[in-house]
Formats: sequence, structure tokens, C-alpha cells
Amino acid sequence: MTRIYLDNASTTPVAPEIVEAIMPFLSEQFGNASSIHAFGQVTRNALELAREEVAKEIGAKPSEVFFTSSGTEADNLALKGTVLARLGEPFQMITSKLEHKAVLESVYWLQKKFKVAVDFIAHDERGRLDLDDLKKKLRPNYRQLISIMHANNELGNINPIKEITAIAKSTNALVHTDAVQSAGKLKLNVDELGVDLMAISGHKFYAPKGIGAIYIRTGTPIESLLHGGTHERNRRASTENVAFSVALAKALKQSHAELQQINSHVALLRHVFLETLTKNGVPFQVNGDSEHHLPHILNLSFPIPTKQKLAGDVLLLALDAAGIAVSSGSACTSGTAKPSHVLLALGKTEHDARASVRVSFSKFNTVEEVTEAARRFADVLKRLL
Ligand code: PLP
Repeated sequence: MTRIYLDNASTTPVAPEIVEAIMPFLSEQFGNASSIHAFGQVTRNALELAREEVAKEIGAKPSEVFFTSSGTEADNLALKGTVLARLGEPFQMITSKLEHKAVLESVYWLQKKFKVAVDFIAHDERGRLDLDDLKKKLRPNYRQLISIMHANNELGNINPIKEITAIAKSTNALVHTDAVQSAGKLKLNVDELGVDLMAISGHKFYAPKGIGAIYIRTGTPIESLLHGGTHERNRRASTENVAFSVALAKALKQSHAELQQINSHVALLRHVFLETLTKNGVPFQVNGDSEHHLPHILNLSFPIPTKQKLAGDVLLLALDAAGIAVSSGSACTSGTAKPSHVLLALGKTEHDARASVRVSFSKFNTVEEVTEAARRFADVLKRLL
């Protein structure tokens, strides 16, 4: 049985040309980018070129781009760093219950440790945010950070960040967007979006795991979380990961160059998958915002009767046994046997959340394998329906 990987929102395979771009930095070009000798200069130049490329791709200045170890670290820095910069002043954090845990757990931690006031923007059953509610929740006498993801990693919903930053202006609130899921899928421009902070992560667009970047608009008050050397212009101490920074920059540039092509390919795969399920008689509901969504993510619920006890990840395991890799939402929560916090926040019961899966496509998936996956999917589901 061939295994079919449809969990690309968790992580993508590393593209061969990205592996190729990394290799010199794992062999002859090994210098520490902070060393002054020639070995260091070679890697320093490569690192700064990578920074320039990332900056160009997102419409920023190179001095506003900082490499991190991951999207999680970038989110943590955005949230914790802005609160730490304003310690002692009343601080309000506005977010939504649909955010990734990298944001939500940081918010809860800040609430507990630093008494940060936290408000959640209301949303409907499709995960669409209520911007009137955001206007009502802004507390003008507080320092504020609004943290709303650019696109939701479980549903694929694209959030109206431009509208949010326009609202934020009324009280001078800072805006952070977790763009980990949309970077490389949508062309992001920090000025058009109007954000002060933005997190991205390489492994969502064909670079390796363990490299991210944060955009920090010039003048944004923010404290560092890692102290030590003066790396990343004092924002993040630790020897730079030149190989993976180069990989992230190249992968982002390449994704943007292939954007239309990849997006129409994954949209076709999404369509083929749904059509094949329908042809095979499987009833389903598509979760999320049907109008504004990323083309590669599909979140589906199936009307599995409650007499079928879907404890833990039963559905995912049954699909895995059939050779299909999908997930129940964020990889960080799958395996914990807890249903998706996003689906629960949409008002689903635990059973219905467990009767849901996220299928996500990449440029490497083919129509043939997606058709085959949907057929196997239907066989597994028919046993449960
Ligand atoms: N934010 C979102 C929306 C994500 O989808 C992910 C990864 O799943 C992260 C943050 C965390 O990124 P990383 O895996 O690079 O830590």
C-alpha cells in the first residue's frame, strides 16, 4: 500500500532545490556568521542576503526582519515582547479563541503572570470574526496588542487583517498577525496589511522545520526573550542558523514566483477530493468560511452516529491504517487525544469535533493520489457512518 500524505498544513516536504541550497552551509560554508574572519563573512553575507530577500517578499525593510527558530518562537516574541516593553502599564491583549496554541498559550501565560487584560473577538459558527465586537472591546486607556492570525491553520479561513488594522488605529493598538499558515500561499505585504508584527515559518512552504521569521515594524516597542550575544541586532541572542535562514528565504521567494500555479493546482485537488467523496456516497460538511479561505486546506465533518465511540484519534488512526495521513487540526494538539479547540470554539460537540478531519494539499500531490485517497477515505468512513 502506498502512503498518501495530505497533511501539508502540519508540514510540507522540503523541496529538492531547497535541500540543495542548504547543503553548502552544512559543509564547506560552516563559519559562524558573527565571526569577523573570512569564514564568518561568507555566511554573514548569505544571512543578510536571505534577510533582504524575505524583506523584499513581504514589503519590509531588511532591518525589520529577524530570523527565529520557528513560528511558535515568533508568536511568543510578538506577544511577550510587546507586553514586557510596557511592564507596569495597563495592557490589553485582544485575540480570538480560534488562534494557534502558540498565540493562545502565550496569551494565557501573560494573563496569569502579568495580569494582562484579555478579550476575545466574537465569531460565528464558520469562524468569521465579528469586527463590531472588536470595536466594542478596545479599551482606550490601555496599551493594546491585537493578535489575529492571517489565516486559520485548521479551517483555512482568511481573516480581514486590513480592516482590523484600520480599527486598531482608533486607539493606537499594535497589531500582530500570525501568518504562519498563509505565508507562501498568499502574497503578504506588511504595509498593505498595516501590521506591526508578523510571524512566518519555513516548514509550511517547503523549507525545513526549525526556522521562522518575525517582521517587527521600525519603532515597535518590544523586549527580547533571548539574552546573550548581540545577534539579530540584539533582538535574539544565539548563533544564527544560516543554512535554514537561506532555505526559508529561497522557499518564500520560490513560493511567490509559483503562487498562481500552486494555488490553482491545490484548488483543483480540493475539488477532486470533494467530488470523489460525493461520488462514493459519503455525506460531509465543509467547516469554515466558504468565501475567504486558503485553497489548500479542507476541514470536513462527517455525520458519524454518536453510538460510534470516537475516543481519542480513532478516525485519524483508521485513516492512517488505510495509508492516508491527515490530521484533526493542529499537529501540536493531535496525539493529545483532545478534540480540536477550534472546532469546539465553533460550537461543535466533542463527538462532532472528533468526527472531523483536516485534509491539506501541497504542490507535490497529484490528482491521481488525491482521487485514490478520497476512495480509501470513503471506505473507512462507510464503516463508521
Ligand atoms: N501558527 C500557526 C497558524 C501554525 O499553523 C503553526 C504550525 O502549525 C504555528 C503557528 C507554529 O509554527 P512552528 O511549527 O514553526 O512552531
